[in-house]
Amino acid sequence: MGLDLSYNKYSSVSLEEKERLFEEVKSDMRYQDHALYGCYECGICVAACPSARFYDFSPRVIAQAAAREDADLMYTLMNDSVWDCSQCFSCDRCPRHNSPGTLITIMREVAVRNGLQTARKALEGYGRIIYKIMSTGTQVSPDMLQPNAFPDWGGHVGDIAENLDVWRRALPPETMHTTETSWYVSEKTLIELYLIWHMTGVMDMIKEVDEGLFDILVDVMEERLEEAGYDDVTF
Ligand code: SF4
Ligand code: SF4
Repeated sequence: MGLDLSYNKYSSVSLEEKERLFEEVKSDMRYQDHALYGCYECGICVAACPSARFYDFSPRVIAQAAAREDADLMYTLMNDSVWDCSQCFSCDRCPRHNSPGTLITIMREVAVRNGLQTARKALEGYGRIIYKIMSTGTQVSPDMLQPNAFPDWGGHVGDIAENLDVWRRALPPETMHTTETSWYVSEKTLIELYLIWHMTGVMDMIKEVDEGLFDILVDVMEERLEEAGYDDVTF
């Protein structure tokens, strides 16, 4: 997504709504703690930022917009810019001790919590991965390594996929002798993760951006929680 600030394509959204969302960003504890202390406009964060090299993207612009309390521009950036950040936090070397990466994290969360259309679009390709992480407690699993899913990885992916079980058993840590998950996750850990995602509002965020995925996750989680004795948990 390019960063085009030459015209305001979100002029149909009221200033009150933009200010409401900016207030939500500012009310986050991380914003008050260390996200922003004002900005020198020195550009050191841009020089350190890998995304700025490849996209029309600037952590400086975002930090400045927040420091100037420009709710209008913050709304544009929350829609069109924050998804270009790779969340590496190289920008934390800011001489004002700002953390543009943290500011962007908060803006992303506000965008998701409020179901902004751009947030839905940015995340729509990640449903399969989000499902995997949230249902199993581990990230991308070996059995997702299929030639048709990763054609750019080359022909050897097919050979590995055919003998995945053997390859995995060759790994020294026994906890990784798995194909459906990246590593072994105990039932106790999984239940704890489900409860954390429920209590911290992560499930509410998923509901805002992808209701279909939310329903599938709820089915998986409720069954397991019920078996573990948490039958009073409702999503
Ligand atoms: S490094 Fe810090 S002070 Fe400099 S432009 Fe970036 S946010 Fe502003
Ligand atoms: S966290 Fe985002 S803004 Fe900061 S350096 Fe990394 S990609 Fe750039």
